[in-house]
Amino acid sequence: MTDRSLDDLHPALKPLCQQWLDQCHSRNINARVIETYRSAAEQDRLFAVGRDARGNVTGRTLTKAGGGQSKHNFALPDGTPASKAFDFTIINDDGTCNWNPATPQWKAAVAIGKSLGLQWGGDFPAHQYDADHFEIA
Ligand SMILES: [Zn+2]
Repeated sequence: MTDRSLDDLHPALKPLCQQWLDQCHSRNINARVIETYRSAAEQDRLFAVGRDARGNVTGRTLTKAGGGQSKHNFALPDGTPASKAFDFTIINDDGTCNWNPATPQWKAAVAIGKSLGLQWGGDFPAHQYDADHFEIA
């Protein structure tokens, strides 16, 4: 099951994520966190989609990171989930999801995140481009 709990974010990221949501909502941008922590096993399952057993791409893939490689997989030494990343979308007035980073609402949400010091996946190199993703260092 997809984990959307802000409680499973890293202690340094959780307050920033909450501020980001609050600032988006105060500007009538209906931003929503759609994923926070992802276990290494779940990451491996996602990595396998669109790849053969050797890891060669055979179809449409979902992620470029294997288990333990994603900032979504980060946990504290005692195993407590502490994701250093979260994924998001913008909900339109009609309830559908806006996945278009070129729209004004999306651009504003990204600007708010950056102003809080978050790193936006849309600024990653082309092969890692990930427009619905924010993370901390
Ligand atoms: Zn992500």
